[in-house]
Amino acid sequence: MQISATANPAPVDDARLAEILANPGFGQHFTDHMLTYEWTPQDGWHDARVTPYGPLTLDPATAVLHYAQETFEGMKAYRHDDGSIWTFRPEQNAARMVRSSARLAFPELPVDEFVACVDALVEVDQRWVPDNSAGGEGEKSLYLRPFMFASEKFLGVRPAQHVTFMVIASPAGAYFKGGIKPVNLWLSETFTRAGRGGMGAAKTGGNYAASLAAQREAIEEGCDQVVFLDDQEFRYIEELGGMNLFFVHADGHIVTPETGTILEGITRASIIELAGKLGHSVEERKFSIDEWRDGVVSGEITEIFACGTAAVVTPVGELRSPRGVTAAPASTELTMRIRDALVGMQFGRTEDTFGWMH
Ligand code: PMP
Repeated sequence: MQISATANPAPVDDARLAEILANPGFGQHFTDHMLTYEWTPQDGWHDARVTPYGPLTLDPATAVLHYAQETFEGMKAYRHDDGSIWTFRPEQNAARMVRSSARLAFPELPVDEFVACVDALVEVDQRWVPDNSAGGEGEKSLYLRPFMFASEKFLGVRPAQHVTFMVIASPAGAYFKGGIKPVNLWLSETFTRAGRGGMGAAKTGGNYAASLAAQREAIEEGCDQVVFLDDQEFRYIEELGGMNLFFVHADGHIVTPETGTILEGITRASIIELAGKLGHSVEERKFSIDEWRDGVVSGEITEIFACGTAAVVTPVGELRSPRGVTAAPASTELTMRIRDALVGMQFGRTEDTFGWMH
């Protein structure tokens, strides 16, 4: 594929950029450029281009605005202390977008083209990748948001005949400022996120729209995130609004909810491999809310952690629900060991023994 490039004639100036990168927050500031790639049945994928970042003009009848045919990805670029810039397993994000897009009846964007598009944007906007070598809050990165949407102007309900893939980027501060803090969780007994045969495994906007009422409930209850249960029995743990879960047992055995209706996190998959290498057996199976509650009370469960691109790994604190509170397990020892291993690799401070960095 050929990617054409038009430089932004008015990039953010160096002083303003330094100010943004000193305190980027999350998802508020965007880089100087964006990447666009289009698809039609006649021409396939065509016209990949990097252009100045800016608003899109969409016809009000654009299909995505009505039927939410959309998929996206979330990943990061990390600057190592030698100045080089790396992404973490980008081909895994590409492969997940292929799976999400198949579920949403989109054309397939080949893995190598997805990676080339992401690389092209990071390359032109490399000055936006924060430097952590001087210390400070640490763990800053450039968040990358590839997404695909139904860009055809048509109100019929069918797969769009004009599809647009884009990549935008936004500098991200450390998820935890001033030290790791456990996330407190709200157990939703009203809402589910996904069902059998649904789109739970796809990274598509509708799943996040479906999570918002539950997330609002969680905030009202003083919690950080929602735990979703299965839609059949309201009994088995699925995942959080934006993270996967792991349960560490007293004998070192680790359980994580099986796939099917959850998002298959790339951090989750990496932890399954990494924990195996650290000598832990990891099992993917149904895990019930009673196992959680009873296991914490009896001491059978020694650690619970959540994981995802944003926070990497975070200890789980209290679980709250209308039926009461389950305390956090006492330990975070393995949680922090796994976190340090992943963060070390991503920021180039420990050896990448898996060959995961790109
Ligand atoms: N579950 C959901 C619902 C998510 O949105 C995310 C974040 N992408 C995850 C799990 C974790 O996935 P990953 O490790 O690929 O970031």
